[in-house]
Amino acid sequence: HYNFCAGPAALPVTVLERAREELLDYQGRGLSVMEMSHRSDEFIAIAERTEADFRQLLGVPDNYKVLFLQGGASMQFAMLPMNLLGQGGSGNFIQTGIWGKKALTEARHLGFDCHVAASSEPNGHTAVPARDALQVSADAAYLHYTSNETIGGLEFDYTPHVQRADGADVPLVCDMSSNILSGPIDVSEFGVIYAGAQKNIGPAGLTLVVVRDDLLGKAQANIPSLFDYQMLAEAGSMVNTPPTYAWYLAGLVFQWLKDDIGGLAAMDAINQRKADKLYAAIDASEIYSNPIAKANRSRMNVPFVLADAALDKAFLQQADAAGLLNLKGHRSVGGMRASLYNAVPESAVDALIAFMVDFEKTRG
Ligand code: PLP
Repeated sequence: HYNFCAGPAALPVTVLERAREELLDYQGRGLSVMEMSHRSDEFIAIAERTEADFRQLLGVPDNYKVLFLQGGASMQFAMLPMNLLGQGGSGNFIQTGIWGKKALTEARHLGFDCHVAASSEPNGHTAVPARDALQVSADAAYLHYTSNETIGGLEFDYTPHVQRADGADVPLVCDMSSNILSGPIDVSEFGVIYAGAQKNIGPAGLTLVVVRDDLLGKAQANIPSLFDYQMLAEAGSMVNTPPTYAWYLAGLVFQWLKDDIGGLAAMDAINQRKADKLYAAIDASEIYSNPIAKANRSRMNVPFVLADAALDKAFLQQADAAGLLNLKGHRSVGGMRASLYNAVPESAVDALIAFMVDFEKTRG
């Protein structure tokens, strides 16, 4: 079976096997990782190794903290303005789809000053705004964007740096939930990166935040300790009990990326091949289509529709029967969506394409 779920998503089989092996007895201790104190030597070793592997994979410079939190990416929609706007200024947002809109809506809901720096709404979120269309406000404290919109299948093909009119650099904040670790990035271009774990990192329940040191200590007074980046950083993400088992599983995924895949450049090449062939198959067909501008087509989430929506049900049923699982599009847009995260092997894409070609011949 192949799992094309948008999240929680497929995990590498070898990671699940290793977790199964170690489930009852972690390295001869007679305990499961689930049963260990987060302050025990064993767990601290797991936590430190996981962070070190993540830092190595992504190339996180020393002047950044990596936080292992709960609450999902959605909690960051609130924590970000609480932490970055405590000394004034406004949150600036690029709007390219549903998740970016939620981030903006949450910041506004909390009463923060917000400004839309650019939006792809006029083109129906089929192409990201051009670099020269970005306009930040004079008081911009950060610019937030969603590097990959998971539902629309729209991915940035550039890093949207901007400067304020006074020449000041605006820290870039990126929701990378659905494309983090899909290939190399230059972390030093960002002020904050965050991601829910349940796509390319590990199981749901863990959220990673990478924050540059100079952005700590700007929080609003009186926010809950558990929301305060600086307090979380000082406590090594252990202000309270962290999601220990998810942290451990993320560590296994990072080891798989390093040892089995060979790092992010290798992962990048595999992901490019997977996405290229699926889009090529869609473009070559008479019945499948994807509306996104070629340069912004997501490598992680490939939405497509059938020319005759009446065939959707048959397509999904037959795909499921063929072991191609979770291809239904998001409820807000319908159609189909194949998520091709890191753990989805190239053979899954080959099987999906073969199925689509066959379906087109017999039903299309
Ligand atoms: N941002 C993006 C880009 C997402 O894809 C998702 C979830 O799918 C979220 C935010 C919300 O994540 P969470 O459910 O962890 O709050």
